Amino acid sequence: MKYIMIEERINVFSCNINKKIGLDVEILSDEATIADYCNAMDNFILNNEFSRLRSSTNECEGCDICCKERIPLTIIDVKRLKMRLDDNLSMEDFLRRYTYVIVNSNIVDITLVIGENGRCMFLNEQLKKCCYYVDRPFVCRTYVCAEISARANKLRNYILNSGEDELMFLWQDLYEKGICIVHETLDFSFEPNKYVRNAWTGAESYEDIVLKDILPTSLWQKLRKGDSIV
Ligand code: SF4
Ligand code: SF4
Repeated sequence: MKYIMIEERINVFSCNINKKIGLDVEILSDEATIADYCNAMDNFILNNEFSRLRSSTNECEGCDICCKERIPLTIIDVKRLKMRLDDNLSMEDFLRRYTYVIVNSNIVDITLVIGENGRCMFLNEQLKKCCYYVDRPFVCRTYVCAEISARANKLRNYILNSGEDELMFLWQDLYEKGICIVHETLDFSFEPNKYVRNAWTGAESYEDIVLKDILPTSLWQKLRKGDSIV
C-alpha cells in the first residue's frame, strides 16, 4: 500500500484494488467533518495518479462523462448553490428553478435540473468544465471513476443518502406549509413522515457536520481504526 497524500483529519490514499490503482479512505480524527472528506478527495483527485476507468486519457481534465448523469443533491449542496447563484431567491424558488423533483409515494427525489441538451446545466460544454466548480455538489466533488474500497464507498454513499434525506425533510416542511414543489409524479400518495433530527439539521456548511455524529458505529469503526481495505 502506498500513501501519497495525508490530510490532517482524513487520509485518502491509493491502493491496489482488482489489479488497478484505486483509492481508500481513513479517518484520522474524531473531529473530522464532511468538509475534510471533500477537501481530501479534491486533493487526491487533482494531485495523484490512479486508474480512471472511464477516460481513455486517464485524466479528468477535458472529460465530461460524469457531468451527463443524475446529480442527487444534499441539503448543504442546495444552500451552497443558492448562495452562489442568487442568495435573494427563496428556497421555494430555488427548488423550482434549479432542481427537478420527482414524487413517488413517500419517496421524494431531488436532483440538479438537467439542461435542454440532457447535460448538467452547469457544464460549459465547449471547455468541458464546471461553471461552479468550487460549489459543485457533494456527489461531484467525491466521485472519481476509479476502483474504490468497500468502506470508502460506504462512507460516500452514507453521507450522500443522509444529506438527500435532510433535503427531502426541507421539501416536506414546505409541503406542510402548503408549498408543493413537484416536477414529475409517479404516484402522489405522499404522507409526511415524522423524522429524527440529526447533525445535518440546521447545519449551514459541510464544516458544521462531524462525521462521527452521522455515521453508524460499525462504519465509523471500520474507517477510524484502519481495518482491511476491501
Ligand atoms: S471522474 Fe468523471 S471527469 Fe474524471 S475521468 Fe472519470 S468520467 Fe471523466
Ligand atoms: S455541477 Fe459541475 S461537476 Fe457537477 S455535474 Fe454539473 S457541471 Fe459537472
